[in-house]
Amino acid sequence: MKIMKFGGTSVGRPERMHQVKDLIIADDEKKIVVLSALSGTTNALVGIGEALAEGKKDKARQKIEALQEHYTNFYMELLTTKASRSKAVQIIKEHFEFLNIILKISFNEAINKDILAQGELLSTKLFYTLLQELEIPAVFLPALEFMSIDENDEPELSRIRERLEAIMARYPEDSIFITQGYICKNHRNEVDNLKRGGSDYSASLIGAAVSASVVEIWTDIDGMHNNDPRIVEQTRPIAHLSFDEAAELAYFGAKILHPASIWPAQLHNVPVKLLNTMAPEAAGTTITGAGEGTVGVKAIAGKDGITALKIKSSRMLLAYGFLRKVFEIFEKYRTSIDMITTSEVAISLTLDDVTHLKEITAELQKLGKVEVDHHLSIICIVGNTIMEEPGVLNKIMGSLEQFPLRMVSYGGSRHNVSILIDGKHKELALKRLNQGLFDFE
Ligand code: ADP
Ligand code: ASP
Ligand code: MG
Repeated sequence: MKIMKFGGTSVGRPERMHQVKDLIIADDEKKIVVLSALSGTTNALVGIGEALAEGKKDKARQKIEALQEHYTNFYMELLTTKASRSKAVQIIKEHFEFLNIILKISFNEAINKDILAQGELLSTKLFYTLLQELEIPAVFLPALEFMSIDENDEPELSRIRERLEAIMARYPEDSIFITQGYICKNHRNEVDNLKRGGSDYSASLIGAAVSASVVEIWTDIDGMHNNDPRIVEQTRPIAHLSFDEAAELAYFGAKILHPASIWPAQLHNVPVKLLNTMAPEAAGTTITGAGEGTVGVKAIAGKDGITALKIKSSRMLLAYGFLRKVFEIFEKYRTSIDMITTSEVAISLTLDDVTHLKEITAELQKLGKVEVDHHLSIICIVGNTIMEEPGVLNKIMGSLEQFPLRMVSYGGSRHNVSILIDGKHKELALKRLNQGLFDFE
């Protein structure tokens, strides 16, 4: 069995949904098809939630109306028969009635999660209606019946597996299953989600849960490129990445993959392929456990919105136990650290989640003087055994000579060099590194 996940642009236009249909019927392999919301929908739903949170009901109502109009135009182009169009009308009515009811009740975070879930519910139902219209046999598999996260917002992989196995066992003869990415239930049994871009994570979790032969991530580009194509003009797709390389790139900002989307596939050794819905013949990127033997830089990614903390303590000099005290504070506030460097008198580290920054800083101040810096970026240069490429550090440093470097992390893993710079230099730094590390004519 394989997993085929289609992102927002892949389902964002009626003709694209037809392409998705062609791709899923192209072979007979049993498959779970994971769909995102139509492109733009989740952003619109976020906007509706924000308007409601600010008490601006009229603004929220206008946004709901605009979105409903979009879906009305969409289904008219997607479907042709009277029967399936009236099904679509019912689906749209149900979900927009829900949004309109929310306008009348008092808003809270749980309701916001319900709002955000509407995108994937709509896209999968409309796509399923298309399959019915074309008499393509398929099973609708509601993600809220099997996908769940625990009280720490971590996916419950073994439970997901048990539930999925039980549901799938009811359909031994069927080969196409349609489900939603992104959405799940939390430990309070409320509707929740796997954070923005989370459909990739859903696909990987489902792939791990059913021990799939492959997880295919179908998107709008022909695989993982060597640098951010939104910023750097000349980039090219990478044919093969190891799980570790892909995980680093995803975590450090390569938007093509959700930051956490590699570990479930890696844990169960399920290959992940990044493919282009608009150019299905392109080779894309294959991510597997193999390829650890390759040497050298494969790709660069950049992550924004980083905060750096420096804790200075003269007493730290040779003091054992100091780092433990520092880390315990971060553990207490369940905040993870991305980069870290130490000297005899100071320790510097970076965070991207600043939810508990105030409390963390207050506690750190008991250990020493604390400096906080915002709006930084981490540039991450990735490749297996990167250090064995001759002169790699010279090339990196040479490319970045015009920028003040705030922190450098080298040697933490065999496949990554991370550099912290001021966020305003990120774009140019990515361009300079592209020139310095890759050969483009
Ligand atoms: P989807 O809606 O299919 O999930 P996303 O927009 O989340 O698609 O991810 C695909 C986009 O990721 C590409 O269009 C591209 O602009 C962006 N991207 C950022 N970094 C990279 C990279 N290194 N390689 C490929 N795409 C990247
Ligand atoms: N629709 C969600 C988002 O836009 C999930 C996804 O597309 O992966 O973030
Ligand atoms: Mg995405």
